[in-house]
Amino acid sequence: MKLLFFGTKSYDKKYLLPYMEQEKYAGIQVKFIEADLTPNTAMLAQGYDAVCAFVNMDVGTQTVELLNGCGVRLILMRCAGYNNVDLETAKKYGIRVAHVPGYSPESVAEHAMALALTANRHLHKAYIKVRENNYSLTGLLGVSFYGRTAGIVGTGRIGAAMARICQGFGMKVIAYDMYPNRSLDFVEYVSLDELLRRSDLISLHCPLTPETHHMINIDTIEKMKDGVILVNTSRGGLIKTEDLVRGIRENKFFAVGLDVYEEENGTVYEDMSDEIMQHSTVARLLSFPNVIVTSHQGFFTEEAMQAISETTMENALAFENGGKGPNELF
Ligand code: NAD
Repeated sequence: MKLLFFGTKSYDKKYLLPYMEQEKYAGIQVKFIEADLTPNTAMLAQGYDAVCAFVNMDVGTQTVELLNGCGVRLILMRCAGYNNVDLETAKKYGIRVAHVPGYSPESVAEHAMALALTANRHLHKAYIKVRENNYSLTGLLGVSFYGRTAGIVGTGRIGAAMARICQGFGMKVIAYDMYPNRSLDFVEYVSLDELLRRSDLISLHCPLTPETHHMINIDTIEKMKDGVILVNTSRGGLIKTEDLVRGIRENKFFAVGLDVYEEENGTVYEDMSDEIMQHSTVARLLSFPNVIVTSHQGFFTEEAMQAISETTMENALAFENGGKGPNELF
């Protein structure tokens, strides 16, 4: 089979190449290109059986239709989330779609806690201050997490890992999920409203769906405790950004940590340091002293990259062998 990897960075190749050298994957002919998969680049897949894309790429209706015209039969997402893929159109054309579920949930959860701690203790500011010979503590006051309440929204693989981390910090852990995770016997499941009302730290770990889109909006923000810390490592669309900005301006939040945000597509994973920023809400978020934003890097650890590479190649191999892989979405 012929497989085209879109949006390949040096770190993707570093972790994928060792698998390609293995005998078992010898039947998979791979090409890496730097361009992201979008409607403008989909035609590059002409003559390929499969394409591999990542979380930030546009695999919407138009792209899927173009891929179908190119003869592509398999879309491999080298990530867990697939909200950027038009599954209905893929299904209509008989294009199979596979993803990589749960490659290293701890990696994302650890990043969520890193964001919470950094924003809370202002490490991003402290780092710069000390480098500039400024040892004043003004503006660096934080809160201790010990004994406080962590509210986890979505207790699947990543949310469960975050719940365990919060428990390790001596926090009381409450959670909201339609399907309680029975392995988390230390977690108290409550309604979303109760979680919003009681939590000192809220961490979002549910997928982006039509139901969860903008679940954090001015109404839900008003239900939160004053001085709450909010962390989002799941998907930008869970939070209505303009309402978040309003809440921050009204001093609702002690701190906010975002690994994902609504306007990230088109900028995330690219070095745009020489360019004029076009997104006004990101600029507004970056202007707040108690907000820290990272570039969708929660997954980015050695463990996750290895697991993503191996599972992606296994997903391709299942197709090559004519079977249905365990990670196919329908
Ligand atoms: P998962 O499928 O294991 O868990 C998701 C949980 O959310 C499930 O328990 C589900 O019941 C729950 N859920 C669904 N709808 C809900 C709702 N309306 N309210 C509350 N809970 C709801 O997924 P996961 O592996 O834990 O990943 C969670 C999300 O993290 C992914 O969907 C993805 O968007 C994001 N993610 C981000 C990164 C990153 O680098 N920042 C990496 C991987 C995944």
